[in-house]
Amino acid sequence: MEYPIVVANWKMNLTLSEALILSGQIFRNVENIKHVDIVLCPPAVFLYPVIDGLRTKTKNLYFGLQNAMSEKEGEFTGETSLNMVKNVCDFAIVGHSERRRLFLETDEMVNKKVKFCLQNSVKPIVCIGEQERFHLEDHFDKEIERMKKQGGILTQIDTALEGVSEKDLSKICITYEPIWAVGTDNAASGVYAAAISYIIKNHLKEKFSDHASDIRVLYGGSVNSQNVREFMMQPNIDGLLVGRASLNFKEFCEICQIASQVKSGNTSFKDN
Ligand code: PEP
Repeated sequence: MEYPIVVANWKMNLTLSEALILSGQIFRNVENIKHVDIVLCPPAVFLYPVIDGLRTKTKNLYFGLQNAMSEKEGEFTGETSLNMVKNVCDFAIVGHSERRRLFLETDEMVNKKVKFCLQNSVKPIVCIGEQERFHLEDHFDKEIERMKKQGGILTQIDTALEGVSEKDLSKICITYEPIWAVGTDNAASGVYAAAISYIIKNHLKEKFSDHASDIRVLYGGSVNSQNVREFMMQPNIDGLLVGRASLNFKEFCEICQIASQVKSGNTSFKDN
């Protein structure tokens, strides 16, 4: 088993000085938080100043883009190429529900981004999710069918991973983010998130057999220091994507601390 991973998605928030303060506070604290890999995803424009501000690197703190263009360079006004940040970014969030909803990103675009990440030695954190809560208790088979339909979460995964080679699977994180739980204070329960993660992992196993276990499955959607334990206690959940709570240093460090405590004993992602 690897260490759990906790991803901070700062979205389009903070001023530069706030970003420098927050990253400094997190940096000073994560050194003492063992057995967890932490990925900070500031707005792209703050990435270099934040990294410069820290001066040294700590073993378990990584950086990521919130979105990445699937081309090296060219006429793509407003986009950031992975090629521009690959020396400082180990990760990139791909296909976040806000990108899909507000910027009309399709599964095919997500697939291109995943492949481009891998070509550039960047690990994609692929977000998938459903609009409306599944009712597995009463309609298990029907809900599995819904997941396999066009736009369903299993189809989102299939398309996102199309053409990805088995040797690259260990670099991929799938983040299950139910859209109804993101930014709402209405997190899924740990049991619900674990059930969906289990279905995702089973699906990956059917697709990739032995290599499926290389892919980590994270949960995202209104995670905070009060509910983090519920998610991390689930054996099928390998980490978290945290939005609002990652903007508060105490809250975020507590989330990382609890994730570390609950899953301690795992080994590091860095070796992949
Ligand atoms: C997110 O944006 O991916 C997210 C999970 O946000 P929040 O934690 O605020 O729900």
